[in-house]
Amino acid sequence: MDLWNEISKTLYSAADYTVKEAEKLTGIAKLKYKRNALKAKLDLYYKSIGELKYAERNGQEVADEMYSGLFEQVDAVLAEQKELESRLADLRDCVSCPQCGYKVQRGLSFCPKCGEKLPSDEKKAENTGNAEDNG
Ligand SMILES: [Zn+2]
Repeated sequence: MDLWNEISKTLYSAADYTVKEAEKLTGIAKLKYKRNALKAKLDLYYKSIGELKYAERNGQEVADEMYSGLFEQVDAVLAEQKELESRLADLRDCVSCPQCGYKVQRGLSFCPKCGEKLPSDEKKAENTGNAEDNG
């Protein structure tokens, strides 16, 4: 199946490239890059699904596994995206609102979205001029 070969070639080369590029980065930059890469991957999967569908409409035979394979990839990317967002939020020094789950900048007393009182940071050192971070 030419169409399928073409699609999978595009998918794999795109995935390969983005993974390699992401390895060069660290910390937030890496996660941000990965977020963009995931978005691009997702677009690609959706596009491929559309292409398959269109080919099918034009009389080409498209096996169900092709769709289900792509659907699985979409599921995986969506899950990865979700995890990535929470990791990014952590790195950005945010906390999740216990009430609505909104990512709130650490140090605020109330959630800007729902107004819930946020747990205060127990490690609030106001007197020490320099706090070293040995993450
Ligand atoms: Zn909230």
